[in-house]
Formats: sequence, structure tokens, C-alpha cells
Amino acid sequence: MGFLDKLSSSVSETAKTLSKRSADLVEISKLNLSIRKREEDIQELYEALGQYVHARLKKLQYINREDVEEYIRKIETLEADIQVFDKMVLKMRKVNYCDRCDIELDDDVKYCPLCGKYLNN
Ligand SMILES: [Zn+2]
Repeated sequence: MGFLDKLSSSVSETAKTLSKRSADLVEISKLNLSIRKREEDIQELYEALGQYVHARLKKLQYINREDVEEYIRKIETLEADIQVFDKMVLKMRKVNYCDRCDIELDDDVKYCPLCGKYLNN
């Protein structure tokens, strides 16, 4: 294989790696977005639950157990979703990778040689 062939084949390998990498990054940021959305939803449910309880107690009314359980069920469903997404993100991040420099590193590297970031792997 001539020099130019070698060069172009290594360039295309790099391009493949880079496009795979950016596809993964897109997936990961999508997952992170889904996680954040659910965290916001949970926060809203807690607020609504607090308002419900507060309004009932203020008027000295009983708190309907089924109403409260409805909120809790919804929160638990969202929390379960978040756990699944968290695991997916971890799986996708299995490569030793500096997200500051956007470079892939050997598995045994603990700090990014370019920016010095500690790699949490
Ligand atoms: Zn870095």
C-alpha cells in the first residue's frame, strides 16, 4: 500500500470514528435532555402535590389517599424512566473520552493529556 493509500484509508477510518462519536454524543445529549425533562416533571408533581395537601389542610379537609397515590405513582414512573436513561448514558460513555477536548484516549489514561481533566472511568 502506497503512502497516499495509507493516508486516505487512515483518514476515512478517523472520519468513521468521528461520525460514530458524534452520533453517540447526539444520542447522549438526547438522553440527558429526556432525563432533565423528567426531573422537571417530577418537580412539578411535587409542587402540585404540596399545593393539593396545603389547600386541603387549610380548609381542614381530609386528604384523599387515592389523590396522593396518583401523584406518587406518576413520580415513581418518571424516576424509573430516569434510571433507565442513566444506565443507557453510562453504557454509551464506556469509551475513555475527554468531553472537553472531544478526543478518545487509551483506557488506562486517568487524566486528559491535553487539558488535564480527570477522567471519571
Ligand atoms: Zn481534555
